[in-house]
Amino acid sequence: MKKNFLTTLSILSAVSLASMNIACQGNSTRQSKVKFIKSGNEKAFLEKRDLDDTFLFGLNVIDTKGFFSTALNLNFRPVESRLVLSQGSQGQTQLVVATESKNGLEKLLSFDVSETSDGKLEVDFATAGNELNLWNGIGGATIDADAGPDAGSWQTVAQPKVVKVEQDSDTVVVDVIHSVSFSLAKAPAEGEQTRSGEVKIRLFLKRQDKKPRIISRTAALARTQNIGFFPAERKPGTDNSLPIAHYKIDVKSKKPAQQIIYLKGFPEEYVDVGRRAIESWNISFGFAAFKAEVANENIDLGDPRYNVAKWIDGLDEDVPWAGYAPTMVNPVTGEVVSTQILINGSTTRKGFEEIYKYTAEASPQFGKLSGKIGNVPLVEGIGENPVVSFFADTNSKTSDEYIKGYYYSVIMHEFGHSLGLRHNFAGSTKIDSNGISSSVMDYEPGFITNIRTIPGSYDTAAVRWGYFGEVPSSPLKFCTDEDMTKRFDCNQGDVGSPVDYVVAGLIQGTTVLENLIVPLPDMVQKPMRGMLKTALKILELQEQIPANKRASAASEINRALERVRTAAPAAELSPLEQSVASANLKKLATSYAEVLAPKTSPVAFIPGL
Ligand SMILES: [Zn+2]
Repeated sequence: MKKNFLTTLSILSAVSLASMNIACQGNSTRQSKVKFIKSGNEKAFLEKRDLDDTFLFGLNVIDTKGFFSTALNLNFRPVESRLVLSQGSQGQTQLVVATESKNGLEKLLSFDVSETSDGKLEVDFATAGNELNLWNGIGGATIDADAGPDAGSWQTVAQPKVVKVEQDSDTVVVDVIHSVSFSLAKAPAEGEQTRSGEVKIRLFLKRQDKKPRIISRTAALARTQNIGFFPAERKPGTDNSLPIAHYKIDVKSKKPAQQIIYLKGFPEEYVDVGRRAIESWNISFGFAAFKAEVANENIDLGDPRYNVAKWIDGLDEDVPWAGYAPTMVNPVTGEVVSTQILINGSTTRKGFEEIYKYTAEASPQFGKLSGKIGNVPLVEGIGENPVVSFFADTNSKTSDEYIKGYYYSVIMHEFGHSLGLRHNFAGSTKIDSNGISSSVMDYEPGFITNIRTIPGSYDTAAVRWGYFGEVPSSPLKFCTDEDMTKRFDCNQGDVGSPVDYVVAGLIQGTTVLENLIVPLPDMVQKPMRGMLKTALKILELQEQIPANKRASAASEINRALERVRTAAPAAELSPLEQSVASANLKKLATSYAEVLAPKTSPVAFIPGL
């Protein structure tokens, strides 16, 4: 039974609430008196005075049961909102979470409320039901076709259940479990038309400061310095005139441990890797601004009170990331509300263990590589092949050491995103004095990621600009995601000069494959496909290649591509070995054909980029 709806609450219109907001702007003493009330386990309470304030509202899927693991694609973008009392369709009083738009306040969600005997508002966070639009919240587009719903939405099939409420004076965090059902687009088994499961939602309201601290450094200004920062809002058609995304750090006081980053679910042997990777950024700040600690059981993702990096085991093999950082950012000020880093644990680790095993079997056949790719020497002790970039030196490093090196750089990269930094795919066009590319925000080949321990010179310059307002002392090399189709030197996974890299990589790669007599796993094929794509892109953008290289670059790349297409197993191999090597080459030729066709549309040459 629901409680009676109280008629004593006034029903406020959007207009009157908006004007109330303005009236309250200058009244800073009032703010300190407004408190959420400490609640029990299943109820959340507001005071009527809370309706005068502005809140960040967030809704995140933090767990699923009975689903495919690719469903774990979370949306941590909070919105600025107001709380309005209104009347529901059955005459009940509702708390409407609304956001300001050109047309006034727009409703996001509504929850039933009742007034307690002492005049508080008791909010039933389970009552939003299907309004939550779980399908969108969970990022449905990425889910496997055979398990995806054809209707594009899920139904809450039972009364949602509030399982946890935590409140302090400015924040309320509520966990709600929804039992859902959805129809399948393609039934995996005969008669299986629908599937059901549970979705755990974490909702929060976090009171906004009345006088937010706004910094003048915008994402557009960063770009004028060849620096890539995310703006406060990260969504399609992003407004680069907004302040940059950044942590609240008092750089003048140099007070240590200003932000604690909690490591959640890390296997014991990876805790130190995670801690060192995150704290390595303190080098760029010049003091220990960040401290990593192991999370207790109450701390998890989706909570604006905690910065969390979470290790997740058992994701599907086709989850396309090793790490992911959908940082929760205040859309007005750009301040990081909460770190949200996801690390693809056991699945990635298993894949790399297989590659390591494969490498140990295959490497005696082609020996170690030597030489230079662009400006970067292939280090004998590391022994990475630039094309088959996952190859480790199985003689001097155990698979464990190799994989830890990989995770170290993944966590560094993801924390770089949390700091506000965008990708820099030109990072490797400048090599630092330690022989490593100038940015961990690049996608670096395996042999670089595996030896990186500190941020690059670009990374530190970006932090010094964004957090200290220091202008770079020398011009930086920078390009990011949207530049990749426009610039020949803006590539993922390359090093030094992209033309040298592609040519040398294609030649070395096919030499390896001509002799490779163990089956080629798909994960080894991927970097080869990337190399082919880069080669084709460079051919399309050859006007941009420096004049002294232009004459030979295209013919060299063409010759290398031809070599990939026509390579045959070495004659001295036994018939059995030849058949395995031939199968490897066939796989590669298939990749080559797929990359070439369908032909990508010609890319326009944009001068001056
Ligand atoms: Zn990234």
